[in-house]
Amino acid sequence: MAATLSPPEPSNDLDRERQRMLDACFLGPYAQNDTLLEKLVVEFLRDHVYWRRNFHPEDPLAISTTAALHPDYLAFEAKMRRELHLLSAALKKSVPFHSPRYIGHMASDLLLPGLAAQILTLPYNPNNVTEDTAPVTVELEIKVGLQLARMLGYVDDPTRPDCAFGHLTSGGTVANYQALRLALAQKAFPVALRAAGIDELELPEDDWAAFNLHPQAAIALVDRWGRWLAQATPTERKRWQSKVAKERIEHLGLVDFFALHADLKVPKVLAPVTAHYSWSKGCKLLGLGRGQLEQLPERGMRIDIDALEATLERCLRDRQPVLMAVAVLGTTEYGTVDPIDAVVDARERFARRGLGFSVHVDAAWGGYLATLFRNEDGSLRPLEDVACGFQTFPTPEVHAAVAAIGSTDSATVDPHKLGYLPYGSGAFICRDHRATALLTEAADYVFHGESAPDYMTRYRSLGQIIPEGSKPGAAAAAVYVTHRVLPLDHANFGLLSAQTIRAAEHFRTRAQRFTRDIAGVAQAIMPFDPDSNLVCLALNPAGNRSVAVANAFVRRLHDELRIDPSHPLQDKEFFASATTLKPEALGEEGILRIFDALGLDAATLDDDRDGKLVILRHTLMNPYLIDRENGISYIDLYFEYLAKRVRALGHAT
Ligand SMILES: *Cc1c(COP(=O)(O)O)cnc(C)c1O
Repeated sequence: MAATLSPPEPSNDLDRERQRMLDACFLGPYAQNDTLLEKLVVEFLRDHVYWRRNFHPEDPLAISTTAALHPDYLAFEAKMRRELHLLSAALKKSVPFHSPRYIGHMASDLLLPGLAAQILTLPYNPNNVTEDTAPVTVELEIKVGLQLARMLGYVDDPTRPDCAFGHLTSGGTVANYQALRLALAQKAFPVALRAAGIDELELPEDDWAAFNLHPQAAIALVDRWGRWLAQATPTERKRWQSKVAKERIEHLGLVDFFALHADLKVPKVLAPVTAHYSWSKGCKLLGLGRGQLEQLPERGMRIDIDALEATLERCLRDRQPVLMAVAVLGTTEYGTVDPIDAVVDARERFARRGLGFSVHVDAAWGGYLATLFRNEDGSLRPLEDVACGFQTFPTPEVHAAVAAIGSTDSATVDPHKLGYLPYGSGAFICRDHRATALLTEAADYVFHGESAPDYMTRYRSLGQIIPEGSKPGAAAAAVYVTHRVLPLDHANFGLLSAQTIRAAEHFRTRAQRFTRDIAGVAQAIMPFDPDSNLVCLALNPAGNRSVAVANAFVRRLHDELRIDPSHPLQDKEFFASATTLKPEALGEEGILRIFDALGLDAATLDDDRDGKLVILRHTLMNPYLIDRENGISYIDLYFEYLAKRVRALGHAT
């Protein structure tokens, strides 16, 4: 272990002191906290046992005390044990996410509070589809929505009418789908109100205007409609409700809705080329069609705002409605952050000109980095405060992007990524909860009037709103407890996020030395400055001009850095992942800059089967990448290993 340690230190004594707390956060690379986890699991398993025993202890024993002596009992136990051992043995081939030698995909060790809460809740098996099957954990899920809303800068006070609302999903994919679903419901509802002929509600003058309201104007209209219904007589209410229901897009389907409103086109979804493929899935699932997803080019791996502007101008000219513009906070492949503030600004300007659309932040990866930008009271930290202790993070652009999340319409955050929680925990959060009534299967007026339920009560039938039906209450318990133990601000959860940023900054510094170390054998660069903790490395053997040759070289390197079920795990030194750079994502100048630095001829891109450049990708979320206790940096060790492999492969070619 000859790694030289020069990683950046936490900024001050308080932070250094608080870092010790992180020692208790995870099971740890060597499972150092095994007794802690074991104690918790056993303690709460016993608790569950006593809970069962205290429910009608007068009932006779259904399983007799001699049952365990019966041969069939023993045979079953033996069979179960055999299968469990086979499973346990097979699982030894799993990916060692917990190890600081794993910097591949978006996974790491699990936070103990979440893991313990999930294990402890499992035997109660709550189903968060409704409070009838989850009297405890449904409420925790609604509170998780509020915790995340606060982290993002949305209103998190349920007594306010415009409070945010969030719920968990199986992952970011379904959260993104839910965003599309809500945005479409919100967009099409004013058109249905017009079609039903309700004049009392101050409706827009034509279908185009109704379909193009600012999202907040659409929400206000949904709210007015609910109030209007609540004060109507029961007979009137029923009549109008059924009239409107028949005009809604959810009832008619896309085909009949757009046939009835022939002057409206199926709306587009605008997302950057770097967007996750869940957006394509979502467009297909919603029936919009993959063709309605318009991919915006990037500049420096961030949405090209001029291109967004030009696209919106074109849409306005062609009377082409836009459902949503997606901005990504932490792209899946490159960890870059889109200018959310500029997208929000475009929404305001185009809504005034009659082209309303919602803005969604896909923060499935980067969402928890927002903890670094929050004070304990929930307020936004100024740039200088956030920057304290980092070399270049956050750039003013990243700070402005995070500061603007509060003005977006909805967001996706994955607790099972940078929240260090077990799969599957994604989350969807909308800024203003009043339009969620449009997603319910039941009557929407019940949320208004004298007897309207309060916020918490309203959402206890989660199954009415979410895309899924039955869902694990244990997952909600895990996320809730984690956010209670580590509140989502810079002084608590943010300590974890800060470590990942420091690791990324150290990676960048160390990459420069690596580049010098392998000079003459290969050229290496970080293709763009990382905005977060996901960093890429592009490589090319010295003297080579061909993209196909460079790709073959990086693929061979990556083969040694990926899981290989036919080989013992212990043989592996490090894990990293690979991705590609597409010309569309880089833009003209990006391609020239990167290919020049690598000594590659961009004209040879077409020689590669996919027309892309293969690069290495690293997610630096493991909390033990920089081990101060022993003065070891796994990032340094990784680069030493990589340099060795590059030399071996380079001389072989
Ligand atoms: C991971 C990711 C998704 C998809 O989330 P899953 O939890 O894998 O369904 C969507 N968007 C971004 C930006 C992501 O990083």
